Amino acid sequence: MFNKRMQKLGEERSVIRELFEYGNRRKQEIGAENVFDFSLGNPNIPAPAAVNGEIARLLRETPEETLHGYSSAQGLYEARAAIAKYIRVKFGVPAEPDLIYMTCGAAASLTVTLSALFEEGDECVVLAPFFPEYRVFAEGAGYRLVVAETDKNFRPDLAALENAITPKTKAVIVNSPNNPTGAVYTEGEMRALAALLEKKSKEYGTPVFLLADEPYRELTYGAEPPYLPALYKNTVVCYSWSKSLSLAGERIGYVFIPSACENAQTLFHAVCGAGRSLGFVCAPVLFQRVVAKCVGQTSDLAEYKKNRDLLYGALTSFGYECVPPEGAFYLFVRSPEASAAAFCERAKKYELLLVPSESFGVGGYVRVSYCVPRAVIEKSLPAFRALLGEYKK
Ligand code: PLP
Repeated sequence: MFNKRMQKLGEERSVIRELFEYGNRRKQEIGAENVFDFSLGNPNIPAPAAVNGEIARLLRETPEETLHGYSSAQGLYEARAAIAKYIRVKFGVPAEPDLIYMTCGAAASLTVTLSALFEEGDECVVLAPFFPEYRVFAEGAGYRLVVAETDKNFRPDLAALENAITPKTKAVIVNSPNNPTGAVYTEGEMRALAALLEKKSKEYGTPVFLLADEPYRELTYGAEPPYLPALYKNTVVCYSWSKSLSLAGERIGYVFIPSACENAQTLFHAVCGAGRSLGFVCAPVLFQRVVAKCVGQTSDLAEYKKNRDLLYGALTSFGYECVPPEGAFYLFVRSPEASAAAFCERAKKYELLLVPSESFGVGGYVRVSYCVPRAVIEKSLPAFRALLGEYKK
């Protein structure tokens, strides 16, 4: 009677959201201060003052009859022009407002782009571990999802990628800084990936597109992620301000197609068509206006670095194993038992809410989101220590 695929997606729910809701129930039962919820990547640092200042100004100064009205489907020109200028100045890459499409966050940027690129039989390659929604987005658009392993430190493995790419590969999704590992890919790694994609595109006589999923671009602790359109012309950037401006709930982002991209104008039309077909037209208009003024600003991201240093330092001193994260706000910690799901269940006894890695496409790890108040981290440390102690008895 209903769409079976949608019904299944709705019923199985996301492991992360399930945990988040469990955490909310637990907080009601035993008090919020006694639950250590590391499940969701929901920014806890406030948006910068400029964002709220701009909202207040817009409410004061924009004529009421236009304030909440529709923009064009692809978004306000002023927002797209501000973004294009920012890309040109910051990254030295030619960028035109007319090749930018405003979206409801990176999730919409990805679904719109995947849908725009798709032809029957296409495959989409992701690097494991990967953001679990990639499977939903790619399969929803019709692709077969192909998973390429990374190396033991979660760096891109070129041989594995080469094996994963076939004449059916339309897109490779790269997410750096990475959810869930915190890896930031180097320019050398991305140049090597670009060379591989050039080679494969030439061999197959059709471009393999690189989708740069960039909601964490500004969240780095030293390493600067290279700008992928500068390295590979057939890159489409899927960006959002969910994390950089702490606007996750406001749903605002964009798709950027570089002018150098093959058939850029036609691809942009396909993006507009996909947006239309999926109902992603006219992104939230108040926030289009806000980002037009605040592009390039960030929340106080140094707070995440302090959280990272505290949590990484403490957990590794207790004996947990974890690759030091260079960006985003996640630790990807090796589970002390083979089943990460079993470990996460045991962690719940200590009121620690951790996400098992299976849905990220690898087994044996847990993701710890450290975009939480410092006090939560401080108070949780004895629980982390006692939890690991169970395995040392
Ligand atoms: N891509 C990655 C890797 C993410 O971690 C997220 C959200 O956490 C998204 C995309 C979706 O971002 P948005 O909330 O802007 O839709």
